[in-house]
Amino acid sequence: MPLHFKYKADKKYFADKLTGGDEKLLGSKYCDYFDFRSSAIKRQEYNLLKPKLLQILLKRSGGICEICKITKGQQIDHIIPVASNQLSKSLRKMRPMMQNGKLKKVPSESYGSNHIKNLQLACQKCNRKKWYKF
Ligand SMILES: [Zn+2]
Repeated sequence: MPLHFKYKADKKYFADKLTGGDEKLLGSKYCDYFDFRSSAIKRQEYNLLKPKLLQILLKRSGGICEICKITKGQQIDHIIPVASNQLSKSLRKMRPMMQNGKLKKVPSESYGSNHIKNLQLACQKCNRKKWYKF
C-alpha cells in the first residue's frame, strides 16, 4: 500500500531515517508504522487498546526497555510519533504566529500508527527523548 504523505519532504525524511532513502521500501516494509487519520481518532483507539498493547510489549521485551535495553520499562513509545509539528518547523520553517492577539502554534501533522510494529516498551528516560530517537 503506498503511503500518502501530505508533504513529499516528510516522506523523504522518514525514508532517510528508516530505509537509507528508499521510498518504495518505506511503503512496503514500513507501511504499518504510519496512519494518517486524525490524531484524535488514533489517540482514542490507543487509549482503548493500551492495556492489551502493554501486555504484548511486556511479553515481547521481557519487561526491559526496548530502546536502551538496560532499564525496566513500563511505558509505551510510538516509534513514529502519532502527531508532531517538528517537521513543519525544521523542513518548512513554519513558526508560531500571532492571530487575534493570541500566539498560534505550528500545526501538527498526523504520522504514526498504533500498530504493534510502531510501538516499543520504553523506560521513562528513553520515552522523553522519543522524537529524536529514530
Ligand atoms: Zn530505556
